[in-house]
Amino acid sequence: TETVGLLLSRIRDVPDYPKPGVLFKDITPLLADPRAFTALTDALAALCVQHGATKIVGLEARGFILAAPVSVRAGIGFIPVRKAGKLPGATLKQAYELEYGTAEIEVHAEDLGAGDRVLVIDDVLATGGTAGACLELIRRAGAEVAGVAVLMELGFLGGRERLEPALRGAPLDAL
Ligand code: 5GP
Repeated sequence: TETVGLLLSRIRDVPDYPKPGVLFKDITPLLADPRAFTALTDALAALCVQHGATKIVGLEARGFILAAPVSVRAGIGFIPVRKAGKLPGATLKQAYELEYGTAEIEVHAEDLGAGDRVLVIDDVLATGGTAGACLELIRRAGAEVAGVAVLMELGFLGGRERLEPALRGAPLDAL
């Protein structure tokens, strides 16, 4: 569609970032273009409605940038899922595997609970590790997963396949 073309045209490929051999998808040109950023926000807000989401989780850090305007547009709350050690209140934590070592994300325990249907928003789905850990966190908080929505899916990394068990039938949309 027209939107897909616009969004694609505003993503920059950066070779050898953050390390040699990696082709990084840079979304900063999209953020700097209000027409593209608005089209992205509208498309993600439409998915919130389609999937009946009652809360939006944004994944630190680029997920925050995308999820915040979507929550305002859709009129539903924004909940940050952060790297460990940044949230001041009582949290639930979830560890996950990285290529080398492990990482940990967390959410304020009081922000999610029974009755919430949560849409997870991030910029890029790569291996699926981050999104998978986030789905665990949401379910451990007692909330339901409405879906995962990303701007881009790097299909060759197999994130969709890895995420599938954690999705338990919930939709994964890549714009
Ligand atoms: P995963 O856990 O799926 O392997 O990695 C996804 C996370 O890493 C996302 O939070 C995403 O922001 C970041 N990421 C991985 N590769 C890229 C990339 O090429 N471009 C951008 N913008 N983010 C990436």
